[in-house]
Amino acid sequence: MTVELDKSHLQIQKAVRDFVKGEFKKEVIEELVEGNAFPEAIWKKAAELGFIGIHFPEAYAGAGLGVLENALIAEELCRGDSSVGCCLGRAGYGAELLLRFGTEPQKAAWLPKVADGSVLCAAAFTEPGLGNDIARSRTTAVKAGDGWVINGTKSFVVNAGPQAGCCIVLARTDAEAAEPSRGLSTFLVESDRAGVRVADVGKKLGCRLMPIGEVCFDQVRVPLDHLVGGENRGYDQVASFLNESRILAAAQALGMAQGAFERSFAYVKQREQFGTKIIDFQVTRHKVAEMATKIEAARLLTYQAARSFDAKKGKSDARLSAMAKLYAGRTAVEVCDEAIQLLGGYGYIQDYEVERFFRDAKMIELFDGSRGTQKNAIADDLVKRGMR
Ligand SMILES: Cc1cc2nc3c(=O)[nH]c(=O)nc-3n(C[C@H](O)[C@H](O)[C@H](O)COP(=O)(O)OP(=O)(O)OC[C@H]3O[C@@H](n4cnc5c(N)ncnc54)[C@H](O)[C@@H]3O)c2cc1C
Repeated sequence: MTVELDKSHLQIQKAVRDFVKGEFKKEVIEELVEGNAFPEAIWKKAAELGFIGIHFPEAYAGAGLGVLENALIAEELCRGDSSVGCCLGRAGYGAELLLRFGTEPQKAAWLPKVADGSVLCAAAFTEPGLGNDIARSRTTAVKAGDGWVINGTKSFVVNAGPQAGCCIVLARTDAEAAEPSRGLSTFLVESDRAGVRVADVGKKLGCRLMPIGEVCFDQVRVPLDHLVGGENRGYDQVASFLNESRILAAAQALGMAQGAFERSFAYVKQREQFGTKIIDFQVTRHKVAEMATKIEAARLLTYQAARSFDAKKGKSDARLSAMAKLYAGRTAVEVCDEAIQLLGGYGYIQDYEVERFFRDAKMIELFDGSRGTQKNAIADDLVKRGMR
């Protein structure tokens, strides 16, 4: 890795690498993969070591660090193992909505629990009939007496499973708003509220250790103080959250690409065919050169997006976040694909892991907005601000 990091960042990287070495045991992961089971014990240990919510303030059991540090952790975890890394890197999915827009009591109640590994956090924006077009969300929240009543269904909700403690839900609070996006708000909903029902989304291509559910809200009552931030500010909050979350997704993609690259590179250096090591064929050398170049470019973009986010103290740059996710996501899929190719027939076999990295990597191109959504965000910003 050639991107320069300072001493404290290198220490974080080393700490995560040591953790991966000690805890990501091949036989344990194989068992988890066999049963599509959430890596509960590894998650708890990661939390104990402070790898979940490192970007939360110390008052909420974090380390008061930034998105760059969080991204470095996500990258190393996914480099160690794409499936386990995905689960750990997304353990607090949506918690940043509370961190950036929540009230003190909301933050105090939930951020420490996410950071210490007591609960997973979830965020529910997507609906069965509306994917990328979340501005038209049909889930409703209506004020009734001393609370809100939420009705609707959200799909593809990561972490919607037995470990989930709370979910941040995007819902319509003003049906008459001139623009659909101006009539949305976000709510903190505890997973055990009456009327919350979770159904499995079905068998997945990858990320099989991660619970992903369809969540139905049937007359779910929450107190008035469960509104997150201002009423009808939900769309902007989610857009801002996604800008941060996309940097994390890019870091996860980067880790998967690096992990698949290293596995295939080690293989071609020892595998002999036609009386010579595969790495000595020029075609192989060109392949690894291209893979390494793409990874390095993705790393530069991802770290730059994270650094920019931290420098602007959380004020996001939609273009840079979308570029990082778009490029790193594509890189992960392409590098993992090439890694399978380099391993030949063995690349197709579970034991060599790269087929699972490939399947997990595809998630990055769909999650937090698909490729088209990232391109729309980049183009919108180019039109608005020009090339700079
Ligand atoms: C593994 C996984 C985890 C997820 N986790 C969560 C979660 O925790 N919470 C949550 O709320 N959502 C989550 N999602 C949902 C994810 O963000 C949506 O799947 C995604 O936004 C796409 O929505 P859709 O599947 O309905 O596709 P659609 O919006 O129907 O899009 C289908 C295709 O059309 C393209 N398209 C659509 N509109 C446009 C446009 N305007 N311009 C260009 N192309 C367009 C898309 O790029 C895509 O290729 C998850 C999805 C996956 C796969």
